[in-house]
Amino acid sequence: MVLRYLDRPVTGMHLEVTNRCALRCAECVRTPLRGKLPATDLPLELVQRTFTVEMAAENDLAIVICGTYGDLVFHPQLHELVAHLKALGLPIRMTTTGSHRDREWWQRLVALLDPSDSVAFSIDGLEDTNHRYRQGADWASIMTALSCCVDRVQTSWKVIVFRHNEHQLDEIVAFARDMGVDQIRINKSGRVPNPDHPLVPQDPVHHAVKAKNKAALLARLARHRGGDPDALAGVRIVPRCASPDNVTIFHDGSVFPCCIDVLDDPWFVARRAAFDLHRVPLAEVLAARHWRELAASWPTPSEAPRACLLRCGISDELWDEYGGDPRYPYREGVDNRRIRFKPGPGG
Ligand code: SF4
Ligand code: SF4
Repeated sequence: MVLRYLDRPVTGMHLEVTNRCALRCAECVRTPLRGKLPATDLPLELVQRTFTVEMAAENDLAIVICGTYGDLVFHPQLHELVAHLKALGLPIRMTTTGSHRDREWWQRLVALLDPSDSVAFSIDGLEDTNHRYRQGADWASIMTALSCCVDRVQTSWKVIVFRHNEHQLDEIVAFARDMGVDQIRINKSGRVPNPDHPLVPQDPVHHAVKAKNKAALLARLARHRGGDPDALAGVRIVPRCASPDNVTIFHDGSVFPCCIDVLDDPWFVARRAAFDLHRVPLAEVLAARHWRELAASWPTPSEAPRACLLRCGISDELWDEYGGDPRYPYREGVDNRRIRFKPGPGG
């Protein structure tokens, strides 16, 4: 059966395979929950039951293994899970911090992947700075991971610009190139809306429109809660899931249209039973009437889930800036958001 979400074929699935992580990134949703979250892994059996030969043949799917509440390297059966997906011929893209696994573990993993599959490493600096945001990261094991992956699969180095690494972006680019990665991606963070926060770069060229937008949305939400009925009228929700390429299966078996941290959003929590892959097959979850109700809420942001408002809402005063801004230049006027060092899989 062809998987459809809001009448469109699903082209990509995200698997958040675990909520385990050894890091404590300051702005991560799991950091304040540390010690309170029961460790939960997406069961291998559930993946095998969901991703079948028929399903893989009938759908043109790319698989992204990443994490909102955890890092894939901590799933105890990741090799078996990847082996199953690769046996079905599915292309795989992974994102990890690369910490705390040894050479043998990485060699087993890359042996399962094709040269066109990819592993992206979230490394926000060099040895002296990466741990400033990625607290608990282990530099030596990250370097081991990179050395196992380069030249075997497509590799990306993803760096978020913070105040503590903005001075060394050229150095990071040179280091990543010398390590042999295929490309580097330089990202502005939209997580911290306050420009005076110590994580936010001093050079405004690194400030993301999405951070300004988040500040504007939070201010509108506060006004709305304070009794101003029109505060959210100047918000437009532009649903990223209109193109269903990151339907996500979370570590607890919940299925949602995107990979944001919706597990505590009241709208999604109230309907979770209908989205539980342990009880409902994937095609049925995606066909649930709730998604139409969700879509019907987007034109009236005051009625939409808070998660959709904050993730996909654009405040009117930032609409033009959003449209025209090359979001990731790290030098004025230069779009360096992605620098390729080697040709891509297609040449
Ligand atoms: S590595 Fe990812 S899951 Fe782990 S704390 Fe950092 S952002 Fe959260
Ligand atoms: S936050 Fe809501 S509108 Fe945005 S992609 Fe996710 S489900 Fe769709």
